Amino acid sequence: MDSQKRHPRTFSFEFFPPKTPEGVEKLRTARRTLAQLRPKFFSVTYGAGGSTRERTLETVLEIQAEGSAAAPHISCVGSSREDLRAVLAQYKAHGIRHIVALRGDLPSGAASAGELRHANELVAFIRKETGDWFRIDVACYPEFHPQARNADEDLGNFKRKIEAGANAAITQYFYNADAYFRFVDDCEVLGIDVPIVPGIMPIGNFSQLARFSDSCGAEIPRWLRLKLQGYGDDAASIRRLGLDVVTELCSHLLAQGAPGLHFYTMNRAELTSEIWHRLGL
Ligand code: FAD
Repeated sequence: MDSQKRHPRTFSFEFFPPKTPEGVEKLRTARRTLAQLRPKFFSVTYGAGGSTRERTLETVLEIQAEGSAAAPHISCVGSSREDLRAVLAQYKAHGIRHIVALRGDLPSGAASAGELRHANELVAFIRKETGDWFRIDVACYPEFHPQARNADEDLGNFKRKIEAGANAAITQYFYNADAYFRFVDDCEVLGIDVPIVPGIMPIGNFSQLARFSDSCGAEIPRWLRLKLQGYGDDAASIRRLGLDVVTELCSHLLAQGAPGLHFYTMNRAELTSEIWHRLGL
């Protein structure tokens, strides 16, 4: 963990672009609350194949207009180089200097995988097209990406993204701090020296979290899964345990030198701001 302690701490909050006018309103309300916590930036996800292209940009511009920094995500799956060039030009024209670059996941039944196969190719493409204009964050996986052939290869593939020119990384969420500490130590051995900011998923709805964790390869430890499952429809108990567990996780990560936290807010302020206040940030 030693190399991570050298990086200044960065706190950020992630949103997805809402689909409906009600969703837009709800996100505005959440954002107002979260903006008071003064994160370094908000990030806004991007649908595979450019499916949220306009909504991602609109959300980012609205955040910027409110006086906060915002970073749109961009993903290469299902897109041509020409599509990506157009998105980058649009971001650049709006003065956006920070992006999160991902491969993305193809929806089932999608026709084309796109021209760039992996996020390292996307990072190299962004650098080739736009030089140093953007600060580029990428994703990494302390519990390893579900499609990785093995853990070492996944780590090597993460290194390719840094070598291609990424400035920092945000992790997939996890509830086992040791997985993060081990991952960071392994990165240090490989000479990876960018901030690796833990991604934090507050626990609200258990069945949704369980479904999502199964597909993205993030483990809910057995004891936690069974306890949450045992609460059934008792939302108050799920909330109470979730807040305790996630606050303890964040506190441990920061105490051991993690360079900040990135919250997957699911467009809601309540759990994230409660954890924030409990941490005394
Ligand atoms: P990659 O780095 O390309 O890795 C994907 C897989 O391919 C891994 O198994 C890796 O080991 C392997 N691999 C990588 N490079 C190579 C190579 N050169 N040769 C062979 N194998 C390779 N998804 C969205 O659609 N939109 C979003 O906005 C979004 N935001 C996210 C934000 C964060 C912080 C995180 C952690 C994830 C996000 N995702 C998003 C999900 C992400 O797109 C998926 O996890 C996706 O499956 C992998 O994306 P990646 O950029 O990590 O891909």
